[in-house]
Amino acid sequence: SFPKRVTLLGSTGSIGTQALDVIRSQPGKFTVTALSAHSNAELLIQQAQEFRPAAVVIGDEAKYKTVKAALASQPETEVLAGSAALADVAGRDDVDVVLTAMVGYAGLLPTVRAIRAGKTIALANKETLVVAGQLITELVKEYGVGLYPVDSEHSAIFQCLVGEEQNLIEKIILTASGGPFRGRSREQLAQVTKAQALKHPNWDMGAKITIDSASLMNKGLEVIEAKWLFGLRNEQIDVVVHPQSIIHSLVQFEDGSLKAQLGLPDMKLPIQYALGYPQRLPNTFPRFSFLDYPQLTFEQADTTAFRNLALAFEAMGRAGNAPCVLNAANEIAVAAFLRDEIGFLQMSDVVETSLARVSYLAAPSLDDYVQTDHETRRIAQELVGQV
Ligand code: NDP
Ligand code: MG
Repeated sequence: SFPKRVTLLGSTGSIGTQALDVIRSQPGKFTVTALSAHSNAELLIQQAQEFRPAAVVIGDEAKYKTVKAALASQPETEVLAGSAALADVAGRDDVDVVLTAMVGYAGLLPTVRAIRAGKTIALANKETLVVAGQLITELVKEYGVGLYPVDSEHSAIFQCLVGEEQNLIEKIILTASGGPFRGRSREQLAQVTKAQALKHPNWDMGAKITIDSASLMNKGLEVIEAKWLFGLRNEQIDVVVHPQSIIHSLVQFEDGSLKAQLGLPDMKLPIQYALGYPQRLPNTFPRFSFLDYPQLTFEQADTTAFRNLALAFEAMGRAGNAPCVLNAANEIAVAAFLRDEIGFLQMSDVVETSLARVSYLAAPSLDDYVQTDHETRRIAQELVGQV
């Protein structure tokens, strides 16, 4: 029922700011209980002044004073700092939905806290399900909460599944744009620059996911995300490259019928669907026309050139803490690539070697995941240093 009280973690990012656009465009449907940023104090302050939430969290404790001072005339907004505060606002009483729009492993603990507090989760932070998909899905069952995908591919599948029985899924097909380097060989990929990698053909997103899209790690993370969201066996997940990003993904059922969800590449629609679920809310998002896209094309993903996709399938197959290792090593590798410390192909080298080196755990606890993440970051950072 509306209005829904929303906590928006990562409100200053690409998903976060678009989620606030959605909220603005639906007067009376949503109220904002809490907002969080990592270091962008300026935008967080501006958002707090507009939405007047009960709390804001600035991750970077050095910026606490700045935010506190700027919001001094707004006593209804409590100002908090640090990562523990992020988990605290995720579990507040006066919240219905927590939208996890922060990037990376940092999403895990606040999401766990929100589930334990009985909150509905609108999940943008795919890393949470990659790191600890089994644990998260078990918690979701135990606490009886809804967990609705924001990621466009998963939203597509979720929408295709309305009115269907999950146990009649034969397989899903995740579409991938192929990114800016689609069609390049390994030799060519060795030469690509950070500036080229940061230019995605169809989507405007945060830096980390943009690099992941260029390396196809994003699709690998999405394969693992889909496994847990939809309770699939590994063999039930396929990937097809579809450069126009119009078909957002497909589900095939056991009678052979294939359902797809289509639309222009615009994250506002899946964000709104996750926030509004089970209700589909009217909106004036730009409409898709077939006449603007006379050709929708499909090709196989090149896992030889884009090794990350193969590594993600491998990690999913090994299960246990392997996907957690994959994720942590990738976060270190992407950060190093963004600092110009390693080349494009070396990102998958760091991931592959980390997967071989970090001790394997078949049935990790939450503490084990925290440990694995920590150990992997240390090893991956060492590998970066040796390049
Ligand atoms: P951005 O980099 O644009 O934004 C990230 C947000 O998280 C910012 O608010 C940032 O704060 C905050 N943040 C950064 N580091 C931390 C940290 N260590 N702890 C807490 N908060 C932090 O990312 P996106 O919005 O692009 O992506 C967010 C998530 O959504 C990712 O998991 C991504 O995979 C997923 N996603 C994104 C899509 C997109 O179109 N952008 C599509 C599908 C999924 P600050 O601004 O202060 O740095
Ligand atoms: Mg996606």
